[in-house]
Amino acid sequence: MSNKLSHAIIVRGGNAEGEFTRRLLAEILCSAEPDRRPCLSCAHCVKAVRGIHPDVTVISRLRDDRGLPKREIAVEQVREAVLGASIAPNEASRRVLVIEEAEKMHRGAQNALLKTLEEPPEHIVTVLISDSPGALLPTIRSRCRVIESGEPPAGAPDSAAALAEAYFAAARSGPARLTEFSFELDKAERRELPAFLSEIRRLAAEYLREALEAGSENLEAGSGSFETGKGGLPPETASAIASAAREAERYLEHNVGAIHISARLCSAALRAGKSVI
Ligand SMILES: [Zn+2]
Repeated sequence: MSNKLSHAIIVRGGNAEGEFTRRLLAEILCSAEPDRRPCLSCAHCVKAVRGIHPDVTVISRLRDDRGLPKREIAVEQVREAVLGASIAPNEASRRVLVIEEAEKMHRGAQNALLKTLEEPPEHIVTVLISDSPGALLPTIRSRCRVIESGEPPAGAPDSAAALAEAYFAAARSGPARLTEFSFELDKAERRELPAFLSEIRRLAAEYLREALEAGSENLEAGSGSFETGKGGLPPETASAIASAAREAERYLEHNVGAIHISARLCSAALRAGKSVI
């Protein structure tokens, strides 16, 4: 093991697909002389950078049946990964266990990882990606070296996109699903909201464009009606949602909580829906 690395590393910020983490994985797995790692040209570096190295296992929150990330990384996920990592590596001289949003590990999951950190088998390196390492158990933190990725928080864009998709699914479905969704959004973390709102605006603009394109095709064909586009939303609804998201972004600047933001978004979808009916 190179002097620069240890068996347990906390990377602050970024995610498993980020450039920083990929380069770190290359450095851990590289077969070149220690002072040349990562060489970025050996098979291990190339696979690590492309995210296809067979000795890298990435653990992240599983998704529920609506496609939303679960609240925690479960103890079974960590147990299974630790067990898998205990087998000798496939190609490199090490195996790397990467845990995204590591602070989301259930307490039991953190304890399941602890033994690997306390008595690390020679071939296992654990990389915990977290933008709030302070939320990890002190027994975990004390065994890790913390390095800064300089990249945006882990997982945020991904879960924001899933949350935005869930919102539009609810808007298409009607009041019952919207109410359900608003409970879900109330629980969202504040730091996820800016990315969520910008994703809402992006999708609303896309759906509006699709609806208008579908409408003008109908006009040309002589049917004379504006239909919903591929997004499944009437143009009025897409536009009401886009302006509600812009307003909610201003709420955020003034420290208004998630509960008001979800109320604003859900009422926009409902009111616009009614005016269409
Ligand atoms: Zn290399």
